[in-house]
Amino acid sequence: MTAALDTLRTVFGYESFRGDQEQIVEQVIGGGDAVVLMPTGGGKSLCYQIPALVRDGCAIVVSPLIALMADQVGALRQLGVNAAYLNSTQDPQERAEVQRAYLAGELDLIYIAPEGLSRQWTRDFLSRGTIALLAIDEAHCVSQWGHDFRPDYLALGELAELWPDVPRIALTATATDLTHQEITERLHLQNARHFVASFDRPNISYRIEAKDRLQQQLLSFIRTEGFDGDVPLTGIVYALSRKSVENIAAFLSRNGIDAMPYHAGMDSRTRERTLRRFLREDGVVVVATIAFGMGIDKPDVRFVAHVDLPKSVEGYYQETGRAGRDGLPSVAWMAYGLADVVQQRRMIDMSDGDQTHKMAQSRLLDAMLALCETADCRRVQLLRYFGQEIAPCGNCDTCLNPPATWDGTVAAQKVLSTVWRLDREFDGQRYGAGHLTDILLGKENARIAQFGHDRLSTYGIGTELDANGWKSVVRQLIAQGHLAPQGEYGVLTLTAAARDVLSGRVTVSFREEAKRVRASGGRSKRVATELSGEEGLLFEALRTWRYAVAQEADAPAYTVFSNKTLEAIAQVRPTNVDELLTVSGVGEAKAAKYGEAVIDVIADFDSL
Ligand code: ADP
Ligand code: ZN
Repeated sequence: MTAALDTLRTVFGYESFRGDQEQIVEQVIGGGDAVVLMPTGGGKSLCYQIPALVRDGCAIVVSPLIALMADQVGALRQLGVNAAYLNSTQDPQERAEVQRAYLAGELDLIYIAPEGLSRQWTRDFLSRGTIALLAIDEAHCVSQWGHDFRPDYLALGELAELWPDVPRIALTATATDLTHQEITERLHLQNARHFVASFDRPNISYRIEAKDRLQQQLLSFIRTEGFDGDVPLTGIVYALSRKSVENIAAFLSRNGIDAMPYHAGMDSRTRERTLRRFLREDGVVVVATIAFGMGIDKPDVRFVAHVDLPKSVEGYYQETGRAGRDGLPSVAWMAYGLADVVQQRRMIDMSDGDQTHKMAQSRLLDAMLALCETADCRRVQLLRYFGQEIAPCGNCDTCLNPPATWDGTVAAQKVLSTVWRLDREFDGQRYGAGHLTDILLGKENARIAQFGHDRLSTYGIGTELDANGWKSVVRQLIAQGHLAPQGEYGVLTLTAAARDVLSGRVTVSFREEAKRVRASGGRSKRVATELSGEEGLLFEALRTWRYAVAQEADAPAYTVFSNKTLEAIAQVRPTNVDELLTVSGVGEAKAAKYGEAVIDVIADFDSL
């Protein structure tokens, strides 16, 4: 028997390795590097824990989940493994003891937060001991374009040069091709072996519905899927804000569900009690913000519900992945609405990052929306996002209950041929969804004029849909693999499959809800009472801007511009200060003072 198998059996009590575990473990024990992409629950921990025990010295495990380190170490100690951690939550005495044990060679594993490893002092200290291997958990945190970037991860690549003889293993449960590449490059893992497991979780049934009366929808979902006969099942409900976490938990409790809120604003005693009940008892429903569940290894969570749209497909996949780790049938349910999209875009707008970063965030959100809007199998879509192709699953809402669709072949051809023409007639210039939409709608704006894109034969041929309708078509074309966003800026390019659509050999259909027909023929300058769709989103972006301006001036927001004026601006969508002046409520003084800034907000919005 190999040392690895022996350790698996004696220390962990498991009979045999799963999936790629054995090859991964052997690779690292042999001194090689590894990149491991494996879904949640796939068994990543053993991939570094076993080599840690088999190889000489102590394994260093980098993890951003500081709150979980004590638990992870506790679990290993239970197995008789000499594990410890070093992080900012410890007092000096505890740290000194861990350091002593490390230098004395008494430890098999030591967990460290990434910021610790960026410090020269920690590196020098660790260099004085024998390092068995370096494991980088949650390795997707190195990706600047991903959903979970941690700057300290960028410094981890240097450790390849600092400790050239130490094998390194990077692990993650989220991996698009781009993230995979970034992990490899930024962590200097060019010589690693790569292990990519299937990301399919066949026991999870995916359902996504449109928000209508949210609380009632959630309640009826839990009443039907959250019980096995009379026995309540364990579940997690994810909401974005603390307030909605509390509201929903209270609502469910009033309706006889054993539900408890959990978010970072609650005191730690209550949180611990909630977590304890969730882990130890059956049938508890926790309503939480997304931080809940990171690394929580409860095998029998039967459902995960989202009452707000996640920021990305990766996030959605990770959160829904907390259901059904035991392999038994489980449900991932979600309700989403346009208001979610508005809120998410606003959060992106207000975030600190630069424009490139915001665009990256915006693309992640688009992919998430495409998953919501798809008329195809959810699982096919989800896995395609991770670069894996499977057959329709027969177990998601769209498979079980195919949605109404419309023949989008002509609409698809309009979009695809615009991309094709831009590429051919404009010397390889490529653009994002917003600009394509403007071309199809025949908009007159600065960029169109500057590039002469009103000369395109597809200019203005798309009046059958509104801007939201076209953006949805673009998202779905990406989701269906006809268009591919490329590089940091997500420029849209045609895929090989697009040719068949352009030639008419293949037809395309889109989900009915995604079709939003233009309300009126032309652009109207009338002030509407209620904005929706694209205009509503722009309105929100303008309000965000106004809020910042008012804050800075320490003045009431309406003194900058009234809501009515912002609505009118969102509708007229001026591209220069002169156009802005035609909007009711914009006088010379305000145009002079805020004009440029407002035009910038609109231009930024258009480029998202
Ligand atoms: P991940 O980190 O990939 O989400 P974990 O390492 O937490 O997954 O493993 C998930 C569960 O599967 C854990 O309870 C773990 O003990 C168990 N497990 C891992 N490998 C094996 C194996 N070879 N045989 C049996 N159970 C395993
Ligand atoms: Zn399906």
